Amino acid sequence: MANPITAPRGTRDLLPEDGPVWDRVEEVARDLSRRYALARIGTPLFERVELFARGLGESSDAVEKEMFRVSGARGSEEERAEWALRPEPTAGIVRAYVEHGMHVRPGPLRLWMIGPMFRYARPQAGRYREFRQWDVEVIGDPGPMVDAELLELGARFYHELGLADVVAHLNSIGDAKCRPAYRDALVDYFGAHEDRLTDDSRRRLRINPLRVLDDKALDVELAAGAPRAIEHLCDECRAHFDLLRELLDTLGVNHVIDHRLVRGLDYYTRTSFEYYVAGREGQQEAIGGGGRYDGLVELLGGRPTPGIGFGIGLDRTILALEEQSIVTPDSEPLVAIVSSEPDFARRLEVAGRLRDAGLAVRRPLRRARAGRSSWVATAWSCATWPVGSNVSYPSTSCRAPSGNRGDPAHPLPSQVQWRPRSVPTPAVSWAPARSGRGSRSPAGCIGAATTGT
Ligand code: AMP
Repeated sequence: MANPITAPRGTRDLLPEDGPVWDRVEEVARDLSRRYALARIGTPLFERVELFARGLGESSDAVEKEMFRVSGARGSEEERAEWALRPEPTAGIVRAYVEHGMHVRPGPLRLWMIGPMFRYARPQAGRYREFRQWDVEVIGDPGPMVDAELLELGARFYHELGLADVVAHLNSIGDAKCRPAYRDALVDYFGAHEDRLTDDSRRRLRINPLRVLDDKALDVELAAGAPRAIEHLCDECRAHFDLLRELLDTLGVNHVIDHRLVRGLDYYTRTSFEYYVAGREGQQEAIGGGGRYDGLVELLGGRPTPGIGFGIGLDRTILALEEQSIVTPDSEPLVAIVSSEPDFARRLEVAGRLRDAGLAVRRPLRRARAGRSSWVATAWSCATWPVGSNVSYPSTSCRAPSGNRGDPAHPLPSQVQWRPRSVPTPAVSWAPARSGRGSRSPAGCIGAATTGT
């Protein structure tokens, strides 16, 4: 036998059993994007290396150490070195904003996307080389109201998934006016303690001193005594930060100030935030994060335009849900067609009608013996829909909460109850499966057909 080929290190396959939780997490993200009036945007998975080098800063980990370079197999030398898989979505979105002249649209522009990102980091629990993010960007709004709205949106996402104890860590890193003085204060402070810095931090101190605070291995005492960004804010940045905090209090967004939160990306200004599960900050990395990037549009060739956004790590969100034992209900109503007769056309036709009505229907079975439908129902966790005259079938029924009858052009048989598929959950109160005539309703079957006998 040939050696099996395995998936690349740091990547994972999404297996059928992983589907429900991914569907749920993405469904909540999509539904919230709709409720917050965000428009969908998509950008390529790979872009010019220069975009990330310019947008994220040459000294950022994402560019310096973690960039996945893509080579065109037959391209010229130059072309081969030119592309990179996107490590984050903001640079690509802002590139598209500038390229398509979106500044002429009535602003601010409110955008979202879900997709994979790639970073060549050392794989470990919760850190992958390919991971998925829900990303939200608002371009053209100086805040601070929109800052509060986005922080609340991220918190609401976790809340609607049922994740408890999420806290937003918050900081303001000032702007081009006040940051230089803060930078100098950091250089003076850490410069006087260089012997206590890691090699990495010593290098950061020269290139981007704010990132010394980002160093996970930084001496705790040294970090605690470091100058704080919010004590160096200019009047405008201070007013922005104070109002943001006031709005977060009004909205009830659980947050703490984190003086070490400076973000690894150079284009961030003012508001900077990350979400953690409270009490797990030391052991677990952020489950989401974002911030304001008022300088980025200009840096990428557009007019000076403020912007803010966040990226929520869906893989880490799912890990956190698992840690809190939050189970995803299997939300697809599932029906299997069973028949005792070789009437393929009839079975396909019935399947089509049930699908018209929004039900998920399994491939019609081959001929089923009398009594076999009960086995099918249990094995596949589904309700059965009998076709033909002499199938004995159980009333394997799960009663749907809604009495909606579906498409009037294809009325369902009167005994079928149907729940529309696009129910905006979170708190869907599933009707418990109802047993009929001695047969148990299949586990996990929700809102499927009832065969009222
Ligand atoms: P960042 O742009 O680094 O702030 O990333 C935003 C969010 O994406 C983080 O808060 C994580 O939830 C997630 N994330 C970043 N890097 C990874 C990774 N290597 N593996 C899994 N999730 C990640």
